[in-house]
Amino acid sequence: MQLKTILNSLEKHKSFVYQVARWADPEFKTEIEIPIQPRANSQAICSKCGKPAPGYDQLPERRFEFVPLWQIAIYFVYAMRRVDCPTCGVKVEKVPWCDGKNQLTTTYRWFLAGWAKRLSWKGVADAFDTTWQNVFRSVKHAVSWGLAHRDLEGIASIGVDEVQWQKGHKYLTLVYQIDNGRKRLLWIGKDRTTKTFLRFFRMLGTRRSGELEFVCSDMWKPYLKVIAKKASQAIHVLDRFHIMQKMNKAIDEVRASEARQLKEDGYEPILKHSRWCLLKRPENLTDNQTLKLSELLKYNLRSVRAHLLREDFQQFWEYVSPTWAGKFLDAWCTRTMRSQLEPMKKVARTLRNHRELLLNWFRAEGRLSSGVVEGFNTKVKLTTRKSYGFRTYEAIEISLYHNLGDLPEPEFTHRFW
Ligand SMILES: [Zn+2]
Repeated sequence: MQLKTILNSLEKHKSFVYQVARWADPEFKTEIEIPIQPRANSQAICSKCGKPAPGYDQLPERRFEFVPLWQIAIYFVYAMRRVDCPTCGVKVEKVPWCDGKNQLTTTYRWFLAGWAKRLSWKGVADAFDTTWQNVFRSVKHAVSWGLAHRDLEGIASIGVDEVQWQKGHKYLTLVYQIDNGRKRLLWIGKDRTTKTFLRFFRMLGTRRSGELEFVCSDMWKPYLKVIAKKASQAIHVLDRFHIMQKMNKAIDEVRASEARQLKEDGYEPILKHSRWCLLKRPENLTDNQTLKLSELLKYNLRSVRAHLLREDFQQFWEYVSPTWAGKFLDAWCTRTMRSQLEPMKKVARTLRNHRELLLNWFRAEGRLSSGVVEGFNTKVKLTTRKSYGFRTYEAIEISLYHNLGDLPEPEFTHRFW
């Protein structure tokens, strides 16, 4: 069977004919060329208006890279015709395997983009012996196609999250659809300002924003403000992931300041060799370690107490009724306010201030899957960390849409990836 026969069954173009394949250089045998000829009597199509037009002239032969076979590069070779279009003037013809001035065929670009979901961009470039730029452009093309063709109807629940990227205080705002039947990244914006988040709602449009039923967020003020303004009909929920994240931060602060205090007071040596005292079962400790542990527990009390307060708070999420959850919350806050642990008291104050939004968690019961935002948050961090090629915002934006956007792809007769 000849290559052109295979190609005809995978990617047949009715106005063009594949010719017999040949080695680009018979001596080295590293590239295969498949010449293409226009079908006799077929008229070229104007690339601007998409209508058939009379021929004008023909350009020199060009090569278009196709999906490699047996690690051998495959090129289509074709001399583009120019048309004299009655509407557009002299234009290059439109060909079905490629668009614009691209050197890669459309199929090859989708092929590279498909692999870029499983490997890093550099990994794809290495595996298929192409450049990082080619992979990047292919993914970019897939993402713009996907964004243009995706369906944004019927979104009932969204979650907004912020993620730090690069060093320093640079943030991305990410908006997810978190409906039970459909979870995907909907939107990415630079920064985490009011302006950033407003742009999401502009993209979604007034009607669709008005159809939202639940919006999850953390307690970041600009987000709260925008949600109140743009989706006031939706139940606004402060989600579990962000609350617990805040509490962990507070525990870290308690521990850090305690460690500092111990060092100042000259107890550093005790902390330094305390690890095994805490990890080992008490019955396995040596006499010295037992002594150390009892000493340590005295000074570690603040960190331990903060930790216990958090463990206790986990019960909050087990409630079904907002009323009882509210009673628990009030009791917990009162207890924490007496704890003398400043970072934890700060959390308690914040929770009190956002009491209603917190209790909305129970009003949304069953409609939101709790781990979604957290899951996305982890994936986003993995994606941003995966490649050092992501120096620019554009690259990170494209990569996140590509990996988490659940974007549609065109129908193909044959999927090469
Ligand atoms: Zn035209």
